[in-house]
Amino acid sequence: MRIHRISARKVRKTLRRMAALSKDLLSIPFVKPIALFLLLLCLLLVLAPYFLTKPIEKQEKKASPSPSFELAQIPKTIDVYIYEAGNTETLDFEEYVKGVVASEMPSSFHMEALKAQAVAARTYSLARVNKAAAGGNPEAHPDAPLCDTTHCQVYRSEDSLKKIKGAKWMTDDWHKICSAVDKTKGQLLYYDGQLVQQALFHSSSGGKTENSEDVFTSAVPYLVSVESPYENDATHQNEENSFSIYDFSERLKGKYPNIAFGDINSSNIEIISRSSGQRVEKMKIGDGIIEGRNVREALGLPSANFAVTISGDTITFTSSGSGHGVGMSQYGADGMAKKGYSYKKILSHYYSGTKIY
Ligand SMILES: [Zn+2]
Repeated sequence: MRIHRISARKVRKTLRRMAALSKDLLSIPFVKPIALFLLLLCLLLVLAPYFLTKPIEKQEKKASPSPSFELAQIPKTIDVYIYEAGNTETLDFEEYVKGVVASEMPSSFHMEALKAQAVAARTYSLARVNKAAAGGNPEAHPDAPLCDTTHCQVYRSEDSLKKIKGAKWMTDDWHKICSAVDKTKGQLLYYDGQLVQQALFHSSSGGKTENSEDVFTSAVPYLVSVESPYENDATHQNEENSFSIYDFSERLKGKYPNIAFGDINSSNIEIISRSSGQRVEKMKIGDGIIEGRNVREALGLPSANFAVTISGDTITFTSSGSGHGVGMSQYGADGMAKKGYSYKKILSHYYSGTKIY
């Protein structure tokens, strides 16, 4: 093998030549400023990542300061009334949350949406437990603060999920749900130093969620109408439901016998007002005035966010969204997650002014 030996004299000579060459180059007009510019550019490229990441680190640290109030205590177990079995079961709290997330949100949803659902379900459950401890269990199930149906939150045990969904689902999807719950273990939503009492959610809003007071009785500061722009994959978009005027009129009169509708015909049906979330607030039907949510209930419409068209003897309701429209839109959460939003951003969007600890 041939080895190149470079003497110190040769190195000094080369360096002198390079220095002379750069002196000549820099003496050419415009070369000096260009060289300076390139030097600055190199410096900028080296330092840019440092300056760009520094504020993000600061922001992240700022986003979760330790709270100045006492955090709620999550018990190890929770009592849940299981309707099919007809008895109350004592379940591990976090395992119960897994069974709720599996039953309340499609497992195909994005991980960040499932994590948001886990925090909402955990918060709702603990609020019900605390409420029951202070004022007693609900009349519908006097032995437990929660039940396993839509009356509270739908819950299915691991065994019943295995039976309903099959072995493949248990390997892939159940694992994903458990991971969403584990990654947010113990996290709860707070508003103004208090545990959120009503972490309500619905399937999809149709574009905008509702103020609590427009759907239920009272105003809640974190349940206010917000845009829900990423619901493209939602079910029940522009869903049409048609009825004959006679059938429509019979259903309303049957459900609300105390409203004096009189004769209902195609010329006396009209939407009077809408909420800020675009749901029908009041309708004039015959001689009566009725709330949009009651029309939704009588006709079994997916949402009170509807338009009405009448053609001859047929009345058609075109509705958008599914559910009451208050709090987190599940399809909206999935849409946000797919756009890159974290579960924390999703939760603070749908539950205005809340913090997660
Ligand atoms: Zn219940």
